[in-house]
Amino acid sequence: MKKLALHWQIIIGLFLGLIYGLIAANSGWQEFTADWIAPWGKIFISMLKMIAVPLVLISLINGVSGLKDISQLSSMGGKTIGIYLITTVMAVTIGLLAVNLIKPGKSFSEEIRQEMVQQNEAKVKSTEEQANAQKSSGPLQFIVDMVPDNFFFSASDNRNMLQIIFFALMFGIALILVPDQTKVDPIKHFFDGANEVILKMVDLIMYFAPIGVFALLGNIMVELAGDDPTAALEILKGLAVYSLTVLLGLLIMVAIVYPMALKLLANYSYKRFFKGLAPAQLLAFSTSSSAATLPLTMERCEEKLGVSNKVASFVLPLGATINMDGTSCYQAVAAVFIAQVYGMDLGLSEQLTIVLTATLASIGSAAVPGAGIIMLAIVLGSVGVPLEGISLIFAVDRPLDMCRTVVNVTGDATVATIVAYTEGELIAHPVEK
Ligand code: ASP
Repeated sequence: MKKLALHWQIIIGLFLGLIYGLIAANSGWQEFTADWIAPWGKIFISMLKMIAVPLVLISLINGVSGLKDISQLSSMGGKTIGIYLITTVMAVTIGLLAVNLIKPGKSFSEEIRQEMVQQNEAKVKSTEEQANAQKSSGPLQFIVDMVPDNFFFSASDNRNMLQIIFFALMFGIALILVPDQTKVDPIKHFFDGANEVILKMVDLIMYFAPIGVFALLGNIMVELAGDDPTAALEILKGLAVYSLTVLLGLLIMVAIVYPMALKLLANYSYKRFFKGLAPAQLLAFSTSSSAATLPLTMERCEEKLGVSNKVASFVLPLGATINMDGTSCYQAVAAVFIAQVYGMDLGLSEQLTIVLTATLASIGSAAVPGAGIIMLAIVLGSVGVPLEGISLIFAVDRPLDMCRTVVNVTGDATVATIVAYTEGELIAHPVEK
């Protein structure tokens, strides 16, 4: 019997999870879900995270050691960071255009605003503290943070991905610089073989994907509904226009900007791109984490989209950490939405400040669930919008996080495909019409 394609397996898990979640939320199965369903989702995420550090390390060393010379690395690096910045600025601009045209904050009722601010006081405080911790550092801090002082310490925490990238790059470069290459050939072979093993492990973890996704979605639905599903639904309705504005911005990125970029810059058919990447996009939706999705994104880009290991191993881990188009688009919409609710009119200079801070904030956001809303505090601060306004959007943050993570992952894969094409590293480049 032919095996069901991975994206169908995940879609089935996703829908069953949604249906289970709806039934559970309305039948008071909160405790059962927390005890017996949620753990399977956690196990799945843990397996994905477990593989992320070894995958990035081994794959990047393997990729760099296969380079013709080091100049290829600098050309790839410059291109990657340049395109990442351009797509992020485009995402913020699209978000700003959408929110200024639709004006979702204008019709928001004053009563609900006050109620929400009161209800979420504690949450706002903790978000503020986390944002302040990020902010209180000098301009060069991000470079300082990139260089590990203890490799094993970096490898023990998934949040230090840039440090792992730094170590792997140096190791790979040193590997090609050794004058007597016969001495390091065994090491190159080792990493080549280890890379295959790790990719196989990703395949094995994916056998568990339908169950993991089912558990994640079921649990999210129950948590979103809380103890009073009807009240939760009312809040969602109140935020419908805002949510739709964010979704519109995200949709423009996925349905227009990326396909055009792929066509124009890589002569790549979006149909093939979408078909190859779909499982990673669905996983991004289910986990709300680009970091947890990274192993699958890398595997799909290499094995289905034809991006070489050299390019994928460098561009994708970097993208998961610094390129978040969905997050930056959402931050722009959210900042202006909150300003609108508070009756503030943001002028051109404030909107440009949002472009700058949302771009930087998305670079600084961790690739984990809910990171975007913490960095949003910094965007709000930069244009003088009251931070307590964040209370208005907490209720819909998780579903929007799921959607923006899809865009974050799609953006990374798009750039990887473009860089691979321009570097002559796109294997079996399709000429599908
Ligand atoms: N969850 C997002 C990601 O992992 C970040 C965010 O916007 O909160 O890409």
